[in-house]
Amino acid sequence: MAIVLNGKKLREKILADLKIKISKFEQKPKLVVILVGNDPASKIYVNNKQKCAQKIGIISEVIKYPSDIEEHTLISKIHELNNDPTVTAILVQLPLPKHISQTKIVETIAPEKDVDGFTPYNFGKLFSGEKPYVYPCTPKGVLLLLDEYKIELEGKHAVVIGRSNIVGHPMSQMLLNRNATVTVCHSHTKNLEQITKTADIIISAVGKNIIKGEMLKSGCVVIDVGIFKDESGKLRGDVDFDSSSKIASYISPVPGGVGPMTITSLMLNTVELFENNL
Ligand code: NAP
Repeated sequence: MAIVLNGKKLREKILADLKIKISKFEQKPKLVVILVGNDPASKIYVNNKQKCAQKIGIISEVIKYPSDIEEHTLISKIHELNNDPTVTAILVQLPLPKHISQTKIVETIAPEKDVDGFTPYNFGKLFSGEKPYVYPCTPKGVLLLLDEYKIELEGKHAVVIGRSNIVGHPMSQMLLNRNATVTVCHSHTKNLEQITKTADIIISAVGKNIIKGEMLKSGCVVIDVGIFKDESGKLRGDVDFDSSSKIASYISPVPGGVGPMTITSLMLNTVELFENNL
């Protein structure tokens, strides 16, 4: 049976260390989250981020706007936050309403306050193999989890399923930067099973239940980034845990695997941005 990669436990360990570190700062880091509209999932995510920040001594402010806010108002606010020396980190909760250009909004955030690592500057640095101000939270969290369990990446065949700018795409580059041999799969990939069977490490970020035990090579490492609710409303991941945990050597569960690591990375990134200005 596979060893279960415990994201909750690692989160508690990292956050406890961060809390001690932050308590020694004379001034405290400040994370500002912008939330537009009433999407229930976004509200929960933002609430969790705020609670976590406050628990470890990060000042957290949430700026809420109605869903019909005009793009230029949001842009002016981001400029104001960019120029405010008390603000360490800015996060705009995605997705945004359709009439607002997500690209334009993300591009407005100053790279040195871009806590998600999504601005063109930080993405460009990542994809040229250089160090961005910070790395995107979910892929960073995946690497923290793999490193905690001392899972070797160099020379390993890593298969990333999904190529979004939030997870799959930066994940593939971060694995490449760690000298893994990376294959990226997506909705047009043919014979997914043939590819997953050659993987030493599988990172699935799709949002559908697509991985089953019979698709895996014996002893591989399986990281499940996906989160969605099935027909009965139960929280699920991309991976069929029961069949996969019989074949894999390590596996991350949903919930309790990558999810807690994403929020942990957000806290780490806020502190990293703060330390850049010390
Ligand atoms: P997304 O933007 O919808 O991307 C999904 C990706 O999956 C796309 O690249 C898509 O391919 C690919 N895909 C769809 N069907 C496929 C199939 N049958 N075979 C192979 N690839 C397929 O989603 P996302 O934002 O990256 O998020 C992915 C999942 O991770 C979601 O469940 C999300 O909730 C979860 N998530 C979890 C965390 C966390 O902290 N645990 C953080 C972020 C996201 P195309 O590009 O060809 O369309």
